Amino acid sequence: MRKRLIVGNWKMNGSRESLSELDGIAAAAEAAPEVDVAICPPFTLIERAAARTPALPIGGQDCHAGEKGAFTGCISAGMLVEAGARIVIVGHSERRAAQGETDAQVKAKAEAVIASGLTAIVCVGETEAERDAGEAKARVSAQLSGSLPVAGGDVLVVAYEPRWAIGTGRTPTMEDVGAMHAMIRAMLEDLLGRERAGAVRILYGGSMTGANAADLLAVANVDGGLIGGASLTAAAFVPIIEAA
Ligand code: 13P
Repeated sequence: MRKRLIVGNWKMNGSRESLSELDGIAAAAEAAPEVDVAICPPFTLIERAAARTPALPIGGQDCHAGEKGAFTGCISAGMLVEAGARIVIVGHSERRAAQGETDAQVKAKAEAVIASGLTAIVCVGETEAERDAGEAKARVSAQLSGSLPVAGGDVLVVAYEPRWAIGTGRTPTMEDVGAMHAMIRAMLEDLLGRERAGAVRILYGGSMTGANAADLLAVANVDGGLIGGASLTAAAFVPIIEAA
């Protein structure tokens, strides 16, 4: 049985003051040892966050695939390790859309994350137009084959985030979530082999809140959640941890 994983993605939100939210989140995580909990704040807060709540894993929201060099504005996985990060989100749809990240780049980033000893959360998900055209599964399956790193096991996490569900208050039906997660699970087995695929957790992301978390987490092959807006405060995030 895979341990549940609930990850907060603060995106470009938060300041030093918001780190006080971590206290309540860390306390809820400690009270729920059957669930893994992590928070990915902006880069600038990682070191302080990791020092403030050492038991709560802190992560980055992106990294460069290289180790070092002339890449202005970029941060390597090794730098994230030094800052105290334990996980890194790669290939979030906001970066695929706004920064034009390709599957090959996402794969290289995920490999760099794992090579640095961190856990990689690889994000996939279709647009609304792709879903309306009946192409959601084809899109997600192409993203998976192009962006999954060679390694599997518990250092790899896949997050299914339909783009149209992010920040919109809309979620797919439980049937659609179940169908997509089952397809992802089957693809992981094909790509990584049964054993390495078995330890990979598949998260759902997109407008998950305390109100719908229990239903979403009850769907087969949903091993946790990747939460944006509802991870910014302990008041909104703790009910999701409790639902897991
Ligand atoms: P929301 O929970 O705000 O919809 O964001 C989901 C997401 O993109 C997490 O990575």
